[in-house]
Amino acid sequence: MGYLGRLYHAVDLATALVPYHFVKSGRAFTPLRVALMVTHRCNLRCAMCMIVEREAELREKDLTTSELKLIIHKIPSRTLVTFTGGEPFVRRDILELLRFAARDHRVNLITNGALLNGEKISQLLALAPKRVFQKGLILVGVSVQGIGETHDAVVRVKGTFDRVRANLETFREERKKWGKSLPLLDIKSVITEENVAQMNDIVDLAVEMEADFCTFQIVNTQDSSYGIEDVPEEAYMTPPVPVRFEKIDTLREQLEKIEARRKEVPFEIRFNPILPPAEIVRRYRNAINIADYGCYVPWSTAHIGPTGNLFPCYSINCGNLLEKTFDEAWNGEAFRAFRRKLREAKIFPGCEGCCFISYRGRGGK
Ligand code: SF4
Ligand code: SF4
Repeated sequence: MGYLGRLYHAVDLATALVPYHFVKSGRAFTPLRVALMVTHRCNLRCAMCMIVEREAELREKDLTTSELKLIIHKIPSRTLVTFTGGEPFVRRDILELLRFAARDHRVNLITNGALLNGEKISQLLALAPKRVFQKGLILVGVSVQGIGETHDAVVRVKGTFDRVRANLETFREERKKWGKSLPLLDIKSVITEENVAQMNDIVDLAVEMEADFCTFQIVNTQDSSYGIEDVPEEAYMTPPVPVRFEKIDTLREQLEKIEARRKEVPFEIRFNPILPPAEIVRRYRNAINIADYGCYVPWSTAHIGPTGNLFPCYSINCGNLLEKTFDEAWNGEAFRAFRRKLREAKIFPGCEGCCFISYRGRGGK
């Protein structure tokens, strides 16, 4: 982890750990991060995506531009707002919403990159501040689920890789023309059986695109974060369905190569959650010990679903932000009760695979 990453991680932990240990009521400080799901619609059909199956039913639920602006306005100004979905660019008003958010917040955008074009990329660059701690668009994460046909097979829409690659090239060239180092670029990939053999090719692509991070996400089989209706308690009290994955040797080889080249590449290679290679392998063998994990994230991070409900991580409605103030929901009884339950349990069985989970084990073989 680079210097800025370590600093951010330390602030993150301090923000969460103080109330975690000392505030019994479950109240928390102002969150450092809010993930805002601006839609559940998407132009792609990724094999590992749980939204896809319910998209037809969820697509009618999007808020209007003014409703979303009202919600963004309520998010505390020092909070990093991550625009996510679904795919944010299926909304015609997405650039207007990003502009609105960037006036008062530091903003992160996660996109599959297929709906970008030169004009939209210029508009994104115009939102970048000079420094990473200033308000504006500071980070863009683009999903790359493999190279060429592998990517297209995972996202199940032919021709997507070529479009994403062309957009990444435009982003690289435009960022240079603007003389900007921001927004930072993060190439993001979920490790699956389909793309595991290409993990190092994805790192190569990140080098070519002059990315600032390359982030591999461990596959998550939880089915509980739509942010609309409440999930039942079983969602977090029972382990999620096992990962289907047979290419363990390939995964080991790819991870070894990544460890060997970490110092060579001009950016940070990250894993979400942060895990040592042996534990990543155990996760894909469905052999982790959940007692090796903990979580403080609901003390520092909130999620807002596409209808405006604030929720911790599991979809438990803690208040709709069209009706409540941010603090009424963030420190309301439902959110505080969830934090108290988590602190008592330390971790829930259903958290296996969550990309926010904290590993406290030793790594080992
Ligand atoms: S791009 Fe994201 S939201 Fe769209 S189908 Fe793939 S994983 Fe789901
Ligand atoms: S580890 Fe569990 S409690 Fe923590 S953020 Fe993930 S799902 Fe929520």
